[in-house]
Amino acid sequence: KVRVRFAPSPTGPLHIGGVRTALFNYLFAKKQGGDFLLRIEDTDQTRFVPGAEEYIVESLKWCGLVPDEGPGIGGEFGPYRQSERKDLYKEYANQLVESGWAYIAFDTPEEIEKLRLEAESNKETFSYGIATRKKLNNSLNLSPEEVQQKIASGEAYVIRFKMPEDEDVTENDIIRGSVTFNTTKSLDDKVLFKSDGMPTYHLANVVDDHLMQITHVIRGEEWLSSLPLHALLYRAFGWEDTKPQFAHLPLILKPQGKGKLSKRDGDKMGFPVFPLQWKDPKTGEVFRGYREDGYFPEAFINLLTLLGWNPGTEEEFFSLKELTQVFSLERVVKSGSRFDPEKAKWFNRHYLQQKPENELTELFKPFLKEKGIVASNEKAAKVVAEIKERCEFVSDFWEQGKFFFTEPESYDEKTVKKRWKENTPEQLSAIAELFETVEPWNAVSSKEAFSAFMNEKEWNFGAIMNPLRLCLVGGNMGPDLFKICEILGKEETIARIKTGIE
Ligand code: GLU
Repeated sequence: KVRVRFAPSPTGPLHIGGVRTALFNYLFAKKQGGDFLLRIEDTDQTRFVPGAEEYIVESLKWCGLVPDEGPGIGGEFGPYRQSERKDLYKEYANQLVESGWAYIAFDTPEEIEKLRLEAESNKETFSYGIATRKKLNNSLNLSPEEVQQKIASGEAYVIRFKMPEDEDVTENDIIRGSVTFNTTKSLDDKVLFKSDGMPTYHLANVVDDHLMQITHVIRGEEWLSSLPLHALLYRAFGWEDTKPQFAHLPLILKPQGKGKLSKRDGDKMGFPVFPLQWKDPKTGEVFRGYREDGYFPEAFINLLTLLGWNPGTEEEFFSLKELTQVFSLERVVKSGSRFDPEKAKWFNRHYLQQKPENELTELFKPFLKEKGIVASNEKAAKVVAEIKERCEFVSDFWEQGKFFFTEPESYDEKTVKKRWKENTPEQLSAIAELFETVEPWNAVSSKEAFSAFMNEKEWNFGAIMNPLRLCLVGGNMGPDLFKICEILGKEETIARIKTGIE
């Protein structure tokens, strides 16, 4: 059975890239009837940020990416928070020391710094490899008794991976194909277990993927460089038979120019890079979120999907449900995809048009309330139906439709200049009188009466329509004029004409 995991570290809010990783994991699992796990990788206590885990959980929920197993959800492979699995990792680290794949290192930061400076003064790049490990106090250079004695006396130590020398490690990546890394050229003796009794990311991640029976590791490109170490860890543990398959997702690039989309780009360029608003608990800084900016999760998901995945057709609109049928990792591209904030709005506009009107009306009500408007549901719904076509967000409704609820505060000067003629007040007052007689009052009846009247008087349609609109909405914008008349109601329509000609 396919089992995948989304394994974020609660070091801050999830950004677009993180959510996309979760999404692709989810889709891959669901397409194949597999499981999607959430695992919180919180072993680096120095980088722990309060509220980040809750943020991650809430973001996934908003997007509709519901894990099958995870913290607060349960599952037979829990706990799903690595800090709660703390005791388990030591045993695995020790196992590697015993089998000779790892060693106990007593080196202090000062010692390492000294070697780094030495290397630098020799114009060499420092790496913690075989040469370094030979110069320091560790279980490879000391006798077992000396090691025991140091541990007994409370000396701090870490457990490091003993990187094999000059070996080409080749792994298959589902998206990139075969990738090869030379151990000596690109890898060092990574710390697996820290002096604070916690495992590092590498150890905990591999051990948990094994114990949780993960079949596919789908993660961001930034982890590609960890792949050879992870592959070697599977070898060292003797777990190669059940080693998962790997897929590293392409980068998400800035809208313009080069480089990876960063957390700060959004606020700089005027769009969110986070699913939900985030307030940094330390600095109090607030970052915009898609949810708070008025995006629908459907639009957000659709947008993320096309960042790296290519459906192979012209189709651009995909619901989460559809995606669980058509998604495949084979159609994920290798190269980075440029993020397009304009496209996000375009998707939102699309999903807004799809929403049932009663739902949109409910969403509009808080905006009305905020403006102090008391309006019936029926009226609000009618307004929504008329204006939604012009809107990308529910928050646009007010700007597009406020004249339905309040009289114009002013009249657009340009239109007045162009359209308001000497005889306009006289003509409009005749129209107001005519409207008094129209019964029942609606868009069709008011239009019919108006047209008949205009024909009879042989007045120019356009010469009246524009000033009439000006009286009702304050400018030359808005939907069909007689629809506006209907929604305003007879009394209000006539009152506004009268105010207009005064
Ligand atoms: N904890 C890692 C992260 O923050 C997980 C990477 C992986 O999926 O292996 O993304």
